[in-house]
Amino acid sequence: MKKVLGIALLVCGLLLSGCTKKETVPKYEQVKQAEDGLLKGVKVSKKVSGYSGKGYVTNFNEPQDSVTFKVKAPSEGIYTLKIRYRVSTGSGDKHTKIVLNGEPSREMILPESNEFRETTGIKIMLNKGENVIQFVSEWGYYDLDYIKVQSESSHRLDNKENKLVNPKATKETKSLMHFLTDQYGKSILSGQQDLTEVEWLNNNIGKKPAIVGFDFLDYSNSALQYERNSKQVEQAIQWDKEGGIVTFSWHWIAPKHLTNKPGKEWDTGYLTKSTTFDVQYAMTHPNSEEYKLLLNDIDTIAIQLKKLQKANIPILFRPLHEAEGGWFWWGAKGPEPAKKLYILLYDRLTNYHKINNLIWVWNSVSPEWYPGDKYVDIISYDSYPSAGDYLPVSIPYDRALSLVNNRKMVTLSENGPIPDPDLLKKYQVSWSWFLTWRGHFLKNGKLNDIDHLTKVYNSPYVITLDELPNLKSYK
Ligand code: CA
Repeated sequence: MKKVLGIALLVCGLLLSGCTKKETVPKYEQVKQAEDGLLKGVKVSKKVSGYSGKGYVTNFNEPQDSVTFKVKAPSEGIYTLKIRYRVSTGSGDKHTKIVLNGEPSREMILPESNEFRETTGIKIMLNKGENVIQFVSEWGYYDLDYIKVQSESSHRLDNKENKLVNPKATKETKSLMHFLTDQYGKSILSGQQDLTEVEWLNNNIGKKPAIVGFDFLDYSNSALQYERNSKQVEQAIQWDKEGGIVTFSWHWIAPKHLTNKPGKEWDTGYLTKSTTFDVQYAMTHPNSEEYKLLLNDIDTIAIQLKKLQKANIPILFRPLHEAEGGWFWWGAKGPEPAKKLYILLYDRLTNYHKINNLIWVWNSVSPEWYPGDKYVDIISYDSYPSAGDYLPVSIPYDRALSLVNNRKMVTLSENGPIPDPDLLKKYQVSWSWFLTWRGHFLKNGKLNDIDHLTKVYNSPYVITLDELPNLKSYK
């Protein structure tokens, strides 16, 4: 399920000191000092040391204050834009709006930094010849030293084979990974949460998605106690027979301490507000009942995963989703217990239960929440912009790229509005797939209007069920 990831969660922004880079030397690079730009409502200062050139530009304190640069590009295409800036400690992260050739293009997050520092960069599309790049104050109160425009290094994955983290992955699982890797950057796979929505898509758009999302929710032990009888696994088997790709998330109902009162019913026991289950206590007390109950739940889900493995179905598996949001109990105590629990899940399912049909999808683009390259095959982000916003979700994409630096694929594991495929292609924002959430996210005619859905599902850039190869024999 979905929650809007608020601005507060996007804090670490573009400066990810923790992630080592294999920098390639750009073929083309141009630096423009801010103090040489066209200034409107701002002024040049030399007060704070550490700037380059003759000073820096400050006083971005009115919404329309701006500095404008002219940049010549040798050819039309994607370039990397970096800026050097500072934001006084204690004043919070800032935003700047970028207007490119007269059109609002991108936002950049500028995390607090008392020293001048350079961002890791965002991708921008430039015309051949002169381009006008304008920085508009937005959330203001930052100092701008210079901008740097570089030719783009490749978006291709570093490891062409893109090996799965589990060396014992089954043949079908490797085949699916090969397919995803081959398509990465060339197309986006269509996806839809809940098999029952596929008929609606087929009736209204005349197409079916390549991927369908399922949920282990009602297989949690707490749900079994209430005699829930889920058909998600049988439905996934049916979808696989149709030739489609299966992804599972798990709204994991806490194994104990469910509040079960009006507004906090037991079947919402995956929500932090509906349980007092303490994941931090459990993960730091391996002899506790709480820890054993978690293992017991993992073992219960393993029974279902084994059914799917027996049916030779690979799964894009995304446990502990949206941990970073804190609205689910597994993320309520911050990154450390959530990462520990994810690694426990990986270890228990892979090494103890010998489940080898999983492609491990981690659902955060934040370095603080990253469990590590050893446990993650694909990085994902859940995107819920406002109705009709079909932009490519580029800030999280840039953050995901910074986190894994082309070592892993990145994907939109859930979305409300689907990004416009033409814009994804134009800006080379290469999400592996999208997966629209069920119900009104798909069908209310506003979040995704019917013209948009028709465009998306008929776009040559979007892969639908009928366009999938036989994935069991792929390579
Ligand atoms: Ca300067």
